[in-house]
Amino acid sequence: MRRDLEKDVVGRKVVRAEVRSSKNAMRIIRRHAKRKEFTDRLVGRKLAKTERRGKYILLHLDNGDVLVVHFGMSGQFIRGNKRQALPPHTHVVIDFQQGGDLRYVDPRTFGEMFVATPDELGKVKELQHIAIDPLDHVFTWHAFGAALAERASKMKQLLMDQKFMSGLGNIYSDEVLFAAGLQHDRMSDTLSSQEVRRLYRALQEVLQEAIRFRGTTLDDEAYVDLFGKPGEFQNELKVYGRAGQPCRRCRTPIQALKVSGRNAYFCPQCQS
Ligand SMILES: [Zn+2]
Repeated sequence: MRRDLEKDVVGRKVVRAEVRSSKNAMRIIRRHAKRKEFTDRLVGRKLAKTERRGKYILLHLDNGDVLVVHFGMSGQFIRGNKRQALPPHTHVVIDFQQGGDLRYVDPRTFGEMFVATPDELGKVKELQHIAIDPLDHVFTWHAFGAALAERASKMKQLLMDQKFMSGLGNIYSDEVLFAAGLQHDRMSDTLSSQEVRRLYRALQEVLQEAIRFRGTTLDDEAYVDLFGKPGEFQNELKVYGRAGQPCRRCRTPIQALKVSGRNAYFCPQCQS
């Protein structure tokens, strides 16, 4: 769904947005007091990218705002154009400059749509308990930074918390933190925006590399992280399992420390 939407609407500019006159249409945009409050924030904006978070679809606008959509039980988007009659239960119509429109159709009206700033988005409680999927490359570093600040936890524990981020285990949390230059016990709400961006980039890079090498298998423990298949990524590991060996970046011996029952490997020189 998201991929189709991405292909269909990203890059398009909204020239007109209409919330239909029915009461049910107001139900769909129930977080807004007035129709105009919703439509004014869409008109003139370009759709920059789409993101899926749990059951929510986030359509990022070019001014940083986000159009959030939840389809409820029966909601859906239908692409159309002026020549086509609106299907029954159409509640919102978004017209694009490049032609064509996007219709939100929902017979049971359990779904919803609203526009939020990144700050407002961080306060939407339905979106707070959805784990970030680091392999869904479209989650933004803005949203990531807000989520980190929100949690105020030690970095390694947070990265391994399946409720926060899915799929990142013991090995990759160490590798990602090394790549980002962050200590395992740094508090997530003390990161500068530069550090958030570095961490964000490190996540993408380490995981992409891990995929390329098809996961990690270690001789001394039957432990496969993230992927089920044996891989060659262990030869690429920078810190994990390398206690006492020289850091690949600065030659300082890598240290290991027990953190809530697991070993955390890090370079005392490169990470702070
Ligand atoms: Zn180092």
